Amino acid sequence: MKLLLIEDEEQIGLPLKRFLEKQGFAVDYYTDGAVGQKEAQVNAYDCIILDLNLPGKDGLEVAASLRKAENTTPVLMLTARSQQYDKISGFEHGADDYVTKPFHLKELLLRIQALIRRNSHDRREVLRAGNIEVIPAQRVVTRNGTAVDLTAKEFGILEYLIRNGGRPVSQEELLEHVWDSEVDSFTQTVKTTIKTLRQKIDPQKSLIETVRGAGYRIANTSP
Ligand code: CA
Repeated sequence: MKLLLIEDEEQIGLPLKRFLEKQGFAVDYYTDGAVGQKEAQVNAYDCIILDLNLPGKDGLEVAASLRKAENTTPVLMLTARSQQYDKISGFEHGADDYVTKPFHLKELLLRIQALIRRNSHDRREVLRAGNIEVIPAQRVVTRNGTAVDLTAKEFGILEYLIRNGGRPVSQEELLEHVWDSEVDSFTQTVKTTIKTLRQKIDPQKSLIETVRGAGYRIANTSP
């Protein structure tokens, strides 16, 4: 397991590097955001530990640049208690989790391990419902083994319904989980998207059921 640590305060970075190495990780350590980002682009890391305030390029910018370059390595952000860290903005920039300084080394370790586990699990995950297979990490959907081209929202609805395993999901809940907060909740957008989704993968309406007054659910297709 290889980690990238970008932290300009050496009194934090150096002991952290030593601690993580003792736990069996290989740790590349840089103190400059721009330099660290360059390393992240040419090496494969299992997790990036990224300080928020950095010379060269700040943590949020580094995370955003990596995501823009389709680098999916999990990012754990280090923030200081004295600075206002906007969690939402952090997630939007591509940070997967954050830890506030001063932190317990043990806690940091657990967060890193959780991020690595989540990431490796996700890459191999396949969701199934009837004759449909969904690979979330690759945004691939197949029907009877043939790839189907879905829009992002169609994909989001399908994935969300399958993950909810037969529980009826309301339109409001779908709006909340699949659309961004800008969506107008009075539009027919969920209905319209369900319709086009069904046309593509479920023309018989046997997979995605409409539950009167409750929303939509994936039919019980297990034999
Ligand atoms: Ca700093």
